[in-house]
Amino acid sequence: MSEFSAWKKLYQPQRPSPQQRLFHPLLEQHALALWIKRDDQLHPRISGNKWRKLKYILRQALSEQASGVLSFGGAYSNHLHALAAAGHELSLPTLGIVRGEPHSRHNPTLGDARRWGMALEFVDRQQYRRRQEPAWLNELARRYPGFLIVPEGGSCPQALPGVAELWQELSQEVDEVILPVASGGTLAGLLSARPATTRVRGYAVLKGTSWLAEEVCRLYPAAGQDPGWQLELDHHGGGYARCPVADQATIAELAEQLGIPLEPIYSGKAMLGLFRDIEAGLYPAGSRLLFLHTGGLQGARGAL
Ligand SMILES: *Cc1c(COP(=O)(O)O)cnc(C)c1O
Repeated sequence: MSEFSAWKKLYQPQRPSPQQRLFHPLLEQHALALWIKRDDQLHPRISGNKWRKLKYILRQALSEQASGVLSFGGAYSNHLHALAAAGHELSLPTLGIVRGEPHSRHNPTLGDARRWGMALEFVDRQQYRRRQEPAWLNELARRYPGFLIVPEGGSCPQALPGVAELWQELSQEVDEVILPVASGGTLAGLLSARPATTRVRGYAVLKGTSWLAEEVCRLYPAAGQDPGWQLELDHHGGGYARCPVADQATIAELAEQLGIPLEPIYSGKAMLGLFRDIEAGLYPAGSRLLFLHTGGLQGARGAL
């Protein structure tokens, strides 16, 4: 089974991503300890949470001997980028359904995806909105027989166990884990194995996400009875992949002060939200916090 040996090579032995302590005057002032888990350094091409989310989806595709994997994303999608890279490593055909935007058809993200052999199909925004409708999914299944169809962002129940493995890598106990949230799969995966003494707080990077908590519970139903997590919905900066110029400057300054790379779509937005909430006194003195850097640095190439 050469495909499985490629999968094992991609995922084993699983080296933990680096974890480092961050220093900043505001942390000192509020008596907080902050670490960062550098999932942006998990893999040179399949960075961050997508490497974790795809782990058991890819294994399923291989064990089912799927003809390929089909998924959905925007023109700068980290998920499609990661899926294309993984497909290339596993000799597994991949197909990306890309939300319109003709002007971005030749951006670096899709350029990489094409180079790794991903077939791309462009649809307009109206069609893209139908990405969860059975009628369209059935049509895609007919047109691409034997393909495993994976939702946008790779968020499906099979994504959870790969994310849950992150807990085993932590080098010390923390009181709270903080991460950016879009489709909710990473948060759901963390909740599926949350230690009783560690809370999880997600910063939404999309606007108008009153549905997000419910979506997390759809992916991981036990989250509905779990009091140990919450979402911050007011730090989206105007919407997905939007970031006010002043915030972009503050994020760049934070990245410089903390000595870590941040992009303005996910990690930067969540880090800015965290620092604003620290300033507002939301985090009790003495807390030990861990920020999950979910990767995504590739998507920042010209995205804003
Ligand atoms: C996809 C992505 C997220 C969001 O993860 P979800 O599981 O969709 O909530 C966060 N950060 C980065 C860098 C991503 O690419």
